[in-house]
Amino acid sequence: MMPAPKIGGLVPFSSCDYPGELACVVFLAGCPWRCGYCHNPHLQAREQHDAAPQWDEILIWLKTRRGLLDAVVFSGGEPLIEPQLPEMMRAVKALGFKIGLHSGGAYPKRLQECLPYLDWVGFDIKSDFMLYEKITAVTGSGAVASASLKLLLASKVALECRSTIHPSLHSEDELIALAQALSDLGVQRYVLQAFRSAGCAEPALINSAQLHFAQFPQPATLAAIEQQFASFQFVSALAA
Ligand code: SF4
Repeated sequence: MMPAPKIGGLVPFSSCDYPGELACVVFLAGCPWRCGYCHNPHLQAREQHDAAPQWDEILIWLKTRRGLLDAVVFSGGEPLIEPQLPEMMRAVKALGFKIGLHSGGAYPKRLQECLPYLDWVGFDIKSDFMLYEKITAVTGSGAVASASLKLLLASKVALECRSTIHPSLHSEDELIALAQALSDLGVQRYVLQAFRSAGCAEPALINSAQLHFAQFPQPATLAAIEQQFASFQFVSALAA
């Protein structure tokens, strides 16, 4: 028998985690990457959180939410780390909810198993795929993320790509080149989000962000990126 899914938390109501839909968010515990700017480092370890409900409790609760919520979003950590995720999605879909996923694509094989159930994905893009290790601290992370993005683009699941940017981790030229590369692959919706210090455990990233964010990215950089996509949004640090 498979062990119970490892739940890191549950947000019972959210209007901002699945575009246009009222959703709850199930946080799955565990992530194979170690991004310095991670704002959920408490979800990196692969363990059920004491304060979080068990998955069978969440399923029972979801039966009382039919007609009140539109969607269930699986987030993390990296939710694809959970071996039972495809079965969890199947059970949620059977209750009539749409399925959303927040992922960086660390496990393309499991993503493929989830594709039949997915309605929308918010896909985290760290940087050019060749430069992923600089952010994730894990060799090969760019290759699996690239494979996952290609699976999503081929699937026609509704997709929004997002990048958290930091002046110490991304140059203006890299951001423009990344936007061009994503557009060339077929990405149509893109969000750039400025690094936020909440939850970040690296003082050097916090300090350098305070020094440089007033000028980063430059308006000309944002204009060059915007023209690559049908939909583009920049969420500045000031909006935090
Ligand atoms: S992939 Fe996401 S959850 Fe994992 S370490 Fe990076 S920012 Fe944190």
